[in-house]
Amino acid sequence: MVTIEEALHIIEDQKIILKSETKPLEESLGYALATNTASPFDVPEFDNSAMDGYALCGLYQGYQLVGEVAAGDSKEILMNDGEAVRIFTGAKVPQNTSAVMMQEKTSVKENTLFLDEMPKAGQNIRKKGGQLEEGQEVFIEGHILNPPSLALMGSLGLENLKVFSKPRVNIITTGNELVKPGQPKTEGQIYESNSYAISGALQQFGFEHHQKTQIQDDFEATKAGIKTALESCDILIISGGISVGDYDFVKQSLEENGVNELFYKVFQKPGKPLYFGRKGNQFVFALPGNPASSLTCFYVYVLPLLQKLSGYPKAGLTTYQFPIKHAYENRFGRPSFLKAAVFDGKVEILDGQGSSMIQSMAKGNALAFIDKEEKLEEGDLIKCKLIS
Ligand code: AMP
Ligand code: MG
Repeated sequence: MVTIEEALHIIEDQKIILKSETKPLEESLGYALATNTASPFDVPEFDNSAMDGYALCGLYQGYQLVGEVAAGDSKEILMNDGEAVRIFTGAKVPQNTSAVMMQEKTSVKENTLFLDEMPKAGQNIRKKGGQLEEGQEVFIEGHILNPPSLALMGSLGLENLKVFSKPRVNIITTGNELVKPGQPKTEGQIYESNSYAISGALQQFGFEHHQKTQIQDDFEATKAGIKTALESCDILIISGGISVGDYDFVKQSLEENGVNELFYKVFQKPGKPLYFGRKGNQFVFALPGNPASSLTCFYVYVLPLLQKLSGYPKAGLTTYQFPIKHAYENRFGRPSFLKAAVFDGKVEILDGQGSSMIQSMAKGNALAFIDKEEKLEEGDLIKCKLIS
């Protein structure tokens, strides 16, 4: 048995080889960049107008209008002192523009422009190189591409990006009692639900599963199922069959498949019978079958490895601290991840903390952490990971 910190360190300390690939811009969200990126040109590339209004030559309150320039126009207009042109947002300003005046502060009579106020030099002009200069570093390797990053890469004209590949994930669920939703079931059977939580949580963080297999509680079937799953994944996530019951065959089947145990059992609630192992560059998590345990272990232990294998510089959910809404005492005898709801900056520990109870997790949005025998008063700070 290891502590939560030990388990997390074991995961964090794994030596891994990152793979990279080229992805089209529109498929790159959530990937980490595999190279540094410098700007190939000045951004903006030319002085342009920040407003719909008038480009002014010289600083006065009245001008002669001599033309118009719209966004995308490439024509060069020459203005003389005291002249102005109609201009629109994003349009290249004529060479000798002193300032741009927004149209709301102007009036036009025949061909003469009047300003409500004196213009200021350089006003409303977005300068060439004002955001980035040619050759300037934009992102360093490991930067995680969020929507604005995609916009920036697009604005640099980059169509394809070199990113770290994401791990391929396979899922195995085990249990004789499990029936696929939508199928008839008999007494004693239950609907299989963990794989939906796991595949959903994978999707939530930009991952997908490659293969999902249901296996009966049988040693040979488990061994064969694990062997097949390991043929096509970087991370194998198994649900159930890892406890100490007579029908729990996962641990032995992993051994027989050459998977080396890195830890088994974590001093925590829920999710004590959590297993983590490695075979070459492949990793295996065997999560306890109880629905809340399995999903809690995914967020706390599996996600950091998924992100590490994706080249993220910092993996796993951020831990925040918020005041607790009510007194709470840990009576579980183990450090515990509690199903919680964070609302208006306060944490409520939800009813239904049992390992099999998923409804409280479904209605909440956080995992709150409370140490063994810790006792909190209303307003005390409690650590939380936000899960939705
Ligand atoms: P196990 O870890 O296999 O002993 O399972 C512990 C509990 O979780 C049992 O009540 C199982 O029926 C339940 N369970 C296991 N796997 C699943 C699953 N995929 N979906 C829903 N419940 C499950
Ligand atoms: Mg089972």
